[in-house]
Amino acid sequence: MPAQLIDGKAIAAKFKRDIREQVDQMVARGMRRPGLAVIMVGDNPASAVYVRNKRKACAESGIVSVAHDLPYSTTQQELIQLIESLNRDPSIDGILVQLPLPQHIEQSVIIEKIDPAKDVDGFHPFNVGRLALRVPLIRPCTPYGVTKLIDHVGLSPKGRHCVVIGASNIVGRPMALELLLMGGTVTVCHRFTGDLKPYVSSADILIVAVGRPGIVRGEWIKPGSVVIDVGMNRGADGKLCGDVDFDGAYERAGWITPVPGGVGPMTVAMLMKNTLESAEARLDP
Ligand code: NAP
Repeated sequence: MPAQLIDGKAIAAKFKRDIREQVDQMVARGMRRPGLAVIMVGDNPASAVYVRNKRKACAESGIVSVAHDLPYSTTQQELIQLIESLNRDPSIDGILVQLPLPQHIEQSVIIEKIDPAKDVDGFHPFNVGRLALRVPLIRPCTPYGVTKLIDHVGLSPKGRHCVVIGASNIVGRPMALELLLMGGTVTVCHRFTGDLKPYVSSADILIVAVGRPGIVRGEWIKPGSVVIDVGMNRGADGKLCGDVDFDGAYERAGWITPVPGGVGPMTVAMLMKNTLESAEARLDP
Protein backbone atom coordinates (compact mmCIF):
# COMPACT_ATOMS: atom_id res chain seq x y z
CA MET A 1 0.00 0.00 0.00
CA PRO A 2 1.46 3.42 -0.87
CA ALA A 3 2.41 5.86 1.89
CA GLN A 4 0.20 8.55 3.33
CA LEU A 5 1.41 12.04 2.47
CA ILE A 6 2.29 14.34 5.38
CA ASP A 7 0.87 17.66 4.24
CA GLY A 8 3.32 20.16 5.76
CA LYS A 9 1.66 23.04 3.96
CA ALA A 10 -1.72 22.40 5.60
CA ILE A 11 -0.19 21.72 9.05
CA ALA A 12 1.87 24.92 8.81
CA ALA A 13 -1.22 26.91 7.77
CA LYS A 14 -3.00 25.73 10.93
CA PHE A 15 -0.02 26.83 13.07
CA LYS A 16 -0.06 30.26 11.41
CA ARG A 17 -3.82 30.64 11.99
CA ASP A 18 -3.37 29.79 15.69
CA ILE A 19 -0.46 32.23 15.96
CA ARG A 20 -2.56 34.94 14.29
CA GLU A 21 -5.30 34.37 16.87
CA GLN A 22 -2.84 34.62 19.76
CA VAL A 23 -1.30 37.80 18.31
CA ASP A 24 -4.76 39.35 17.90
CA GLN A 25 -5.51 38.50 21.54
CA MET A 26 -2.25 40.20 22.62
CA VAL A 27 -3.24 43.31 20.68
CA ALA A 28 -6.73 43.21 22.22
CA ARG A 29 -5.06 43.20 25.66
CA GLY A 30 -3.25 46.45 24.70
CA MET A 31 0.12 44.96 23.74
CA ARG A 32 2.02 45.68 20.54
CA ARG A 33 2.40 43.11 17.79
CA PRO A 34 5.55 40.91 17.84
CA GLY A 35 8.36 42.36 15.70
CA LEU A 36 10.78 40.33 13.57
CA ALA A 37 13.85 41.92 11.97
CA VAL A 38 14.88 40.03 8.82
CA ILE A 39 18.41 40.79 7.63
CA MET A 40 19.64 39.79 4.20
CA VAL A 41 23.16 40.60 2.98
CA GLY A 42 23.72 40.52 -0.78
CA ASP A 43 21.34 39.28 -3.43
CA ASN A 44 21.56 35.48 -3.40
CA PRO A 45 18.43 34.51 -5.41
CA ALA A 46 17.59 31.46 -3.22
CA SER A 47 17.90 33.59 -0.04
CA ALA A 48 15.65 36.23 -1.61
CA VAL A 49 12.92 33.57 -2.10
CA TYR A 50 13.25 32.31 1.51
CA VAL A 51 13.17 35.86 2.88
CA ARG A 52 10.09 36.69 0.80
CA ASN A 53 8.32 33.61 2.20
CA LYS A 54 9.24 34.58 5.77
CA ARG A 55 7.94 38.14 5.30
CA LYS A 56 4.71 36.78 3.77
CA ALA A 57 4.27 34.43 6.75
CA CYS A 58 4.73 37.40 9.13
CA ALA A 59 1.90 39.22 7.36
CA GLU A 60 -0.32 36.11 7.63
CA SER A 61 0.51 35.67 11.32
CA GLY A 62 0.02 39.31 12.33
CA ILE A 63 3.73 39.79 13.07
CA VAL A 64 5.48 43.03 12.08
CA SER A 65 8.40 42.25 9.81
CA VAL A 66 11.17 44.83 9.50
CA ALA A 67 13.34 44.40 6.40
CA HIS A 68 17.08 45.10 6.43
CA ASP A 69 18.32 44.39 2.90
CA LEU A 70 22.04 45.17 2.93
CA PRO A 71 24.47 45.29 0.00
CA TYR A 72 27.00 42.49 -0.55
CA SER A 73 29.77 44.95 0.37
CA THR A 74 28.49 45.26 3.98
CA THR A 75 31.37 44.63 6.39
CA GLN A 76 31.26 42.26 9.35
CA GLN A 77 31.56 45.26 11.70
CA GLU A 78 28.61 47.04 10.05
CA LEU A 79 26.48 43.92 10.39
CA ILE A 80 27.48 43.55 14.06
CA GLN A 81 26.51 47.19 14.69
CA LEU A 82 23.07 46.59 13.16
CA ILE A 83 22.55 43.45 15.28
CA GLU A 84 23.60 45.28 18.44
CA SER A 85 21.11 48.07 17.72
CA LEU A 86 18.35 45.48 17.10
CA ASN A 87 19.31 43.72 20.37
CA ARG A 88 18.56 47.01 22.14
CA ASP A 89 15.42 47.88 20.10
CA PRO A 90 12.35 47.34 22.34
CA SER A 91 10.03 46.88 19.35
CA ILE A 92 12.01 43.86 18.05
CA ASP A 93 11.44 40.37 19.50
CA GLY A 94 13.26 38.31 16.91
CA ILE A 95 16.37 38.80 14.76
CA LEU A 96 16.88 36.61 11.74
CA VAL A 97 20.06 36.75 9.67
CA GLN A 98 19.45 34.91 6.40
CA LEU A 99 22.24 32.40 5.69
CA PRO A 100 24.54 31.92 3.89
CA LEU A 101 26.40 35.19 4.45
CA PRO A 102 29.02 36.50 2.00
CA GLN A 103 32.42 34.85 2.50
CA HIS A 104 34.01 37.93 4.05
CA ILE A 105 31.60 37.67 7.01
CA GLU A 106 32.08 34.91 9.58
CA GLN A 107 28.76 33.22 10.24
CA SER A 108 29.54 31.95 13.75
CA VAL A 109 30.69 35.43 14.91
CA ILE A 110 27.42 36.96 13.68
CA ILE A 111 25.19 34.28 15.23
CA GLU A 112 26.88 34.78 18.61
CA LYS A 113 26.21 38.55 18.48
CA ILE A 114 22.44 38.02 18.48
CA ASP A 115 20.82 38.30 21.91
CA PRO A 116 19.88 34.64 22.68
CA ALA A 117 16.43 35.86 23.80
CA LYS A 118 15.87 37.27 20.27
CA ASP A 119 17.57 34.36 18.42
CA VAL A 120 14.36 33.09 16.80
CA ASP A 121 16.30 30.85 14.41
CA GLY A 122 17.59 29.01 17.50
CA PHE A 123 21.19 28.89 16.18
CA HIS A 124 22.96 30.66 19.08
CA PRO A 125 25.18 28.28 21.12
CA PHE A 126 23.12 29.18 24.21
CA ASN A 127 19.91 27.91 22.60
CA VAL A 128 21.55 24.83 21.05
CA GLY A 129 23.13 24.11 24.46
CA ARG A 130 19.75 24.38 26.18
CA LEU A 131 18.36 21.82 23.73
CA ALA A 132 21.36 19.52 24.32
CA LEU A 133 20.77 19.76 28.09
CA ARG A 134 17.06 18.87 27.73
CA VAL A 135 15.86 22.33 28.80
CA PRO A 136 15.03 23.87 25.41
CA LEU A 137 14.16 27.55 25.09
CA ILE A 138 14.21 28.79 21.50
CA ARG A 139 14.56 25.76 19.22
CA PRO A 140 16.08 25.59 15.70
CA CYS A 141 13.12 25.99 13.33
CA THR A 142 13.61 23.14 10.85
CA PRO A 143 14.12 20.31 13.39
CA TYR A 144 11.38 21.80 15.57
CA GLY A 145 9.04 21.75 12.57
CA VAL A 146 9.95 18.11 11.89
CA THR A 147 8.97 17.18 15.47
CA LYS A 148 5.53 18.70 14.77
CA LEU A 149 5.21 16.57 11.61
CA ILE A 150 6.10 13.45 13.63
CA ASP A 151 3.52 14.45 16.27
CA HIS A 152 0.98 14.81 13.47
CA VAL A 153 1.60 11.26 12.28
CA GLY A 154 1.04 10.10 15.85
CA LEU A 155 3.99 7.66 15.91
CA SER A 156 6.03 8.26 19.04
CA PRO A 157 9.81 7.96 18.58
CA LYS A 158 9.96 6.29 22.04
CA GLY A 159 11.70 2.95 21.66
CA ARG A 160 12.00 3.38 17.90
CA HIS A 161 15.08 3.65 15.73
CA CYS A 162 15.38 7.18 14.37
CA VAL A 163 18.01 7.75 11.69
CA VAL A 164 19.16 11.24 10.75
CA ILE A 165 21.19 11.58 7.56
CA GLY A 166 23.19 14.82 7.59
CA ALA A 167 24.84 16.36 10.63
CA SER A 168 24.87 20.10 9.97
CA ASN A 169 24.60 22.64 12.78
CA ILE A 170 21.23 23.92 11.59
CA VAL A 171 19.45 20.67 10.69
CA GLY A 172 21.07 17.28 11.39
CA ARG A 173 22.63 17.87 14.82
CA PRO A 174 19.71 19.68 16.48
CA MET A 175 17.39 17.13 14.81
CA ALA A 176 19.22 14.33 16.60
CA LEU A 177 18.86 16.23 19.90
CA GLU A 178 15.11 16.72 19.34
CA LEU A 179 14.63 13.01 18.60
CA LEU A 180 16.59 12.07 21.74
CA LEU A 181 14.32 14.40 23.70
CA MET A 182 11.33 12.56 22.19
CA GLY A 183 12.70 9.25 23.46
CA GLY A 184 14.05 7.90 20.18
CA THR A 185 17.13 5.73 19.75
CA VAL A 186 19.10 7.92 17.39
CA THR A 187 21.73 7.21 14.74
CA VAL A 188 23.34 10.11 12.86
CA CYS A 189 24.93 9.51 9.45
CA HIS A 190 27.28 11.98 7.75
CA ARG A 191 29.77 12.17 4.91
CA PHE A 192 32.12 9.60 6.52
CA THR A 193 29.41 7.02 7.18
CA GLY A 194 29.88 5.27 3.86
CA ASP A 195 27.11 2.84 2.94
CA LEU A 196 23.81 4.39 4.08
CA LYS A 197 21.64 1.41 3.13
CA PRO A 198 21.89 -0.60 6.42
CA TYR A 199 20.98 2.50 8.44
CA VAL A 200 18.10 3.53 6.19
CA SER A 201 16.62 0.03 6.05
CA SER A 202 16.52 -0.23 9.85
CA ALA A 203 14.96 3.23 10.41
CA ASP A 204 11.44 3.43 11.84
CA ILE A 205 11.71 7.20 11.49
CA LEU A 206 14.07 8.54 8.81
CA ILE A 207 15.06 12.20 8.48
CA VAL A 208 17.21 13.13 5.48
CA ALA A 209 19.01 16.48 5.29
CA VAL A 210 22.01 16.33 2.97
CA GLY A 211 21.21 18.41 -0.11
CA ARG A 212 21.82 15.67 -2.67
CA PRO A 213 18.91 14.39 -4.78
CA GLY A 214 18.47 10.61 -4.73
CA ILE A 215 21.04 9.97 -1.95
CA VAL A 216 18.38 7.73 -0.35
CA ARG A 217 17.01 5.08 -2.68
CA GLY A 218 13.41 4.01 -2.47
CA GLU A 219 14.14 0.29 -2.16
CA TRP A 220 16.15 0.90 1.06
CA ILE A 221 13.14 2.25 2.97
CA LYS A 222 11.80 0.08 5.81
CA PRO A 223 8.18 -0.83 5.02
CA GLY A 224 5.71 1.26 7.03
CA SER A 225 8.31 3.77 8.26
CA VAL A 226 8.01 7.56 8.54
CA VAL A 227 10.16 9.36 5.96
CA ILE A 228 10.83 13.07 6.39
CA ASP A 229 12.77 14.66 3.54
CA VAL A 230 14.35 17.98 4.51
CA GLY A 231 16.46 18.25 1.35
CA MET A 232 15.64 21.02 -1.05
CA ASN A 233 17.33 20.80 -4.43
CA ARG A 234 16.55 22.60 -7.66
CA GLY A 235 16.83 20.37 -10.74
CA ALA A 236 18.01 21.43 -14.19
CA ASP A 237 14.31 21.80 -15.13
CA GLY A 238 13.92 24.39 -12.34
CA LYS A 239 11.72 22.07 -10.25
CA LEU A 240 12.34 21.48 -6.53
CA CYS A 241 13.06 17.98 -5.27
CA GLY A 242 14.21 16.39 -2.01
CA ASP A 243 17.04 14.00 -1.16
CA VAL A 244 14.92 10.83 -1.18
CA ASP A 245 13.88 8.98 -4.32
CA PHE A 246 10.24 9.90 -3.73
CA ASP A 247 8.49 7.51 -6.12
CA GLY A 248 10.33 4.44 -4.76
CA ALA A 249 9.98 5.51 -1.12
CA TYR A 250 6.29 6.28 -1.56
CA GLU A 251 5.62 2.61 -2.38
CA ARG A 252 7.23 1.36 0.86
CA ALA A 253 6.91 4.04 3.57
CA GLY A 254 3.93 4.40 5.90
CA TRP A 255 4.10 8.20 5.80
CA ILE A 256 6.23 10.53 3.70
CA THR A 257 6.69 14.27 3.23
CA PRO A 258 6.55 15.75 -0.28
CA VAL A 259 9.09 18.30 -1.54
CA PRO A 260 7.94 21.02 -1.85
CA GLY A 261 5.09 21.20 0.65
CA GLY A 262 6.58 19.14 3.50
CA VAL A 263 9.26 20.47 5.83
CA GLY A 264 9.77 23.90 4.19
CA PRO A 265 6.45 25.46 5.29
CA MET A 266 6.91 24.04 8.81
CA THR A 267 10.30 25.76 9.14
CA VAL A 268 8.64 29.11 8.46
CA ALA A 269 5.70 28.35 10.78
CA MET A 270 8.13 27.54 13.64
CA LEU A 271 9.90 30.85 13.00
CA MET A 272 6.56 32.58 13.57
CA LYS A 273 5.97 30.49 16.71
CA ASN A 274 9.42 31.33 18.09
CA THR A 275 8.85 35.05 17.40
CA LEU A 276 5.46 35.02 19.14
CA GLU A 277 6.89 33.20 22.18
CA SER A 278 9.85 35.58 22.33
CA ALA A 279 7.41 38.54 22.32
CA GLU A 280 5.24 36.92 24.99
CA ALA A 281 8.27 36.38 27.24
CA ARG A 282 9.15 40.08 26.83
CA LEU A 283 5.68 41.65 26.98
CA ASP A 284 3.76 39.29 29.22
CA PRO A 285 6.39 37.64 31.44
P1 NAP B 1 24.78 21.27 4.89
O1 NAP B 1 25.17 22.29 5.91
O2 NAP B 1 25.46 21.26 3.57
O3 NAP B 1 24.93 19.86 5.58
C1 NAP B 1 24.79 18.67 4.84
C2 NAP B 1 25.09 17.50 5.75
O4 NAP B 1 25.05 16.33 4.96
C3 NAP B 1 26.48 17.55 6.41
O5 NAP B 1 26.33 17.24 7.76
C4 NAP B 1 27.28 16.50 5.66
O6 NAP B 1 28.18 15.80 6.48
C5 NAP B 1 26.20 15.52 5.26
N1 NAP B 1 26.63 14.73 4.10
C6 NAP B 1 27.30 15.12 3.01
N2 NAP B 1 27.50 14.07 2.18
C7 NAP B 1 26.94 13.00 2.79
C8 NAP B 1 26.84 11.63 2.46
N3 NAP B 1 27.35 11.15 1.34
N4 NAP B 1 26.22 10.79 3.31
C9 NAP B 1 25.67 11.27 4.46
N5 NAP B 1 25.76 12.56 4.84
C10 NAP B 1 26.38 13.42 4.00
O7 NAP B 1 23.24 21.37 4.57
P2 NAP B 1 21.99 21.76 5.52
O8 NAP B 1 21.96 23.20 5.72
O9 NAP B 1 21.93 20.84 6.68
O10 NAP B 1 20.80 21.38 4.52
C11 NAP B 1 20.60 20.08 4.02
C12 NAP B 1 19.50 20.10 2.98
O11 NAP B 1 18.30 20.53 3.62
C13 NAP B 1 19.70 21.08 1.82
O12 NAP B 1 19.10 20.55 0.66
C14 NAP B 1 18.96 22.32 2.25
O13 NAP B 1 18.50 23.10 1.15
C15 NAP B 1 17.79 21.69 2.96
N6 NAP B 1 17.18 22.54 3.99
C16 NAP B 1 15.83 22.63 3.96
C17 NAP B 1 15.20 23.38 4.91
C18 NAP B 1 13.71 23.45 4.88
O14 NAP B 1 13.13 24.25 5.59
N7 NAP B 1 13.06 22.59 4.10
C19 NAP B 1 15.91 24.04 5.91
C20 NAP B 1 17.30 23.90 5.93
C21 NAP B 1 17.92 23.13 4.96
P3 NAP B 1 29.43 16.47 7.23
O15 NAP B 1 28.83 17.14 8.44
O16 NAP B 1 30.30 15.33 7.58
O17 NAP B 1 30.01 17.46 6.26
